[in-house]
Amino acid sequence: MTNVNFNDYQLSSDLLKSISMLNYTNPTMVQEQVIPAVLIKKDVIVKSQTGSGKTAAFAIPICESVDWLENKPQALVLVPTRELAIQVKEEFFNLGRFKRLKVSAIYGKSPFLNQEKELKQKTHVVVGTPGRIIDHLDKETLDISNIKYLVIDEADEMLNMGFIEQIETIINSLSKERITILLSATMPKDVEVLSKKYMNDPIYVEIEEKNSTASRIEQERYTVEEIDKVKLLKDITIVDNPDSCIIFCNTKQKVDDIHNELVNLKYTCDKIHGGMEQRDRLRVMNDFKLGYFRYLVATDVAARGIDIDNITLVINYDIPLDKESYVHRIGRTGRQNKEGKAVTFVTKYESKFLTEIEEYIGHEIPLKDKPEKETVMNSKIRFVEKINSTPEIKETKGATFNKEIMKIHINAGKKTTKMRPADIVGTLSNINGMTAEDIGIINVLDISTFVEILNNKGEMVLQELQNIPIKGRIRKVSKANM
Ligand code: AMP
Repeated sequence: MTNVNFNDYQLSSDLLKSISMLNYTNPTMVQEQVIPAVLIKKDVIVKSQTGSGKTAAFAIPICESVDWLENKPQALVLVPTRELAIQVKEEFFNLGRFKRLKVSAIYGKSPFLNQEKELKQKTHVVVGTPGRIIDHLDKETLDISNIKYLVIDEADEMLNMGFIEQIETIINSLSKERITILLSATMPKDVEVLSKKYMNDPIYVEIEEKNSTASRIEQERYTVEEIDKVKLLKDITIVDNPDSCIIFCNTKQKVDDIHNELVNLKYTCDKIHGGMEQRDRLRVMNDFKLGYFRYLVATDVAARGIDIDNITLVINYDIPLDKESYVHRIGRTGRQNKEGKAVTFVTKYESKFLTEIEEYIGHEIPLKDKPEKETVMNSKIRFVEKINSTPEIKETKGATFNKEIMKIHINAGKKTTKMRPADIVGTLSNINGMTAEDIGIINVLDISTFVEILNNKGEMVLQELQNIPIKGRIRKVSKANM
């Protein structure tokens, strides 16, 4: 954090209000450099890790610059994974809440038709994975003729995943009159080539982490036979007794197995891997974020970019076979300058991977002795207490907003009554005490309409609408889930 204040930038009160509700008091280092550059419409290359506040660094100036009145998307954000698409969408949505920005997340293995419908409505920002974005371009269900901002997030990862062709196709379909922001944790040659080819005199921002991930996270390793790993896992979790822990395995099968072991041991746990349904993966990540369970068993699916605060312990049940993956995995802990611990199990056949990782991170990972039987015994009471206690449920970032905002449902829509947002605005503006600033996002669907009422005026509006006609008739109006 720095001494610069968000008020120092030319930001509207809508944006400043969201920023303050998210409890962002000062811009992070990356934000301090990126926000002013994008506000004056410069292309920017950012070399920075996740966890540095890089999403808000581009989302804040984009939300500020987007024209609410324009119906076609004005910003396109490319991300490597569905999970990240949802996370980035949320950040945009929260930041743009008071400006009533509509943000869509577009990713594969999710019904195309729903996305098509969503994209037909007013959309200011589209966040998506390259493959599905191309599908929408091919079917002409995404209009990119008005895109003024292109963000290429986690560029290194997208190129690693082989998305280069899709990314180039997308870039070539966009207007050259645009601002391009590229973010990457590392800057391999192919990312550099991409930036040279498609960016216009970019400003280069590199954040040297003063307090680097490696120094913030206590790292240790254990030499262990495969067959003894479960016992070691048990002992370490008993002694360490973490509030929140991710256990990484290298295969789906192993994740299933270890998850079963932990379930049998009555750990509060769940699992995530690429073989699971998208819906289940999202649910698990969400529940873990909220703190419904303490132990998550995962493959590398969960290692990238995902932002969960307060994970105190990461266990590499299997040593990662790829050195970069080690850094991403352990980076799930020690976020936002908090302390964290990462433990790696290494069998005697895996010293090659260990050497590669140690060379990559530039130091040795200290070898530890397995916990003594007595230490484990002495830690058991505390551990059982925690396992049996109800975890403290965390608030989502959006929850602060939800206290001020009520979403209401009106039992009439486009098809049934030819409802338009203007009809809703007209009715609401006539209610005493309501101004245009109190009306949030309006979503008119086929047979119903959702409207967000801001500034704690939801209850009042709900009452009033029981007796005020909307488009000539009294409608059934109720409180909707957020
Ligand atoms: P990112 O690097 O985008 O993954 O962001 C990491 C975390 O930092 C997210 O939880 C953000 O909500 C949070 N964050 C972003 N900007 C700020 C800020 N200025 N102050 C405090 N937290 C922030």
